[in-house]
Amino acid sequence: MRKELIDGMVETALNGQSISNEQALQLESFSHEELDYLFIGTDRIRDQFKGENVKICSIVNAKSGRCVEDCSFCGQSSSFKTDAPEFELMSVEEMVTAAKEAEAFGANEFSIVASGTKMNDREELDRVKEAVRRIKAETNLETCCSLGLMELDHLKELKAAGLDRCHHNLETAASHFEKIVTTHTYEDEVRAVKNAQEAGLDVCVGGIFGMGETFTQRVELAFSIRDLGTQSLPINFLKPIEGTGMDHLETIEYYDALKTIALLRLILPKIDLFVCGGREEVLTDKQEKLFSAGANGILGGNYLTTKGQDPKRDIGMIEELGLRPPASWEVNSNR
Ligand code: SF4
Repeated sequence: MRKELIDGMVETALNGQSISNEQALQLESFSHEELDYLFIGTDRIRDQFKGENVKICSIVNAKSGRCVEDCSFCGQSSSFKTDAPEFELMSVEEMVTAAKEAEAFGANEFSIVASGTKMNDREELDRVKEAVRRIKAETNLETCCSLGLMELDHLKELKAAGLDRCHHNLETAASHFEKIVTTHTYEDEVRAVKNAQEAGLDVCVGGIFGMGETFTQRVELAFSIRDLGTQSLPINFLKPIEGTGMDHLETIEYYDALKTIALLRLILPKIDLFVCGGREEVLTDKQEKLFSAGANGILGGNYLTTKGQDPKRDIGMIEELGLRPPASWEVNSNR
């Protein structure tokens, strides 16, 4: 057991610093016993910077399918034949209703997600802006949008409408990107994040793990996200969707997933870490370990094209651990 190495890494993160690249690479060879010892430390780091409050983010798939990009994990790309739904952008009313439903089951953050390279149609953009304005006025939710490779001026308009945050994943490490997407570049992804920051928005930048990348590439992605200065990071584990370019891959193994969460907590000790897509499939009936591995948030409700578990089960899991779900849950459950 490499106790000294683990203690040193945890101490560094408890001081608010990232572990080094060399230390991060050592995690690859950790045994289950070493990982269990590490999770005691990552739990302390989560507790020190995030306390007992758990964040729950919820999304609405506001526009689905028919995307011209070829992201090989995505059921919404027109490059693949899948069962993913196809529909145009929802009405303002539908987006606001989805936000209110999310708040009622306990979410404290809500994201409007639309398929496609970017949203640059004036009518569509105005509709999302109006939805953001109404969600800010009619709920206590923090607002987020995930609309693709957005331009600076459009992001500024969304910010003026009341948008708090922009979500944009880098998807994977720069060195692995061309194996995943060929219709746009890694630099395009980075520019979209920088545009959001320049527009004055907080950013939420993450990726998908289990897409054939090496552990070294996971470390590479983690440091790239750190260097961008994100406020939160969604961790997704690939759920291979039939018909996509990744339907032949196996889901990531349980301890490997937890190790990835811990890696991110050790490199980004202070930010919000959410476990999102693939949570139920990969962590199955032992999902509570995601918090000791270092995450302080989850995506609740449904995913883009697949169903999530019952939100009440999530709240039960959080409360059983002695952690605290968002205040919106208490307000709504006491009604
Ligand atoms: S991830 Fe987004 S950009 Fe890529 S194919 Fe899917 S909807 Fe299109």
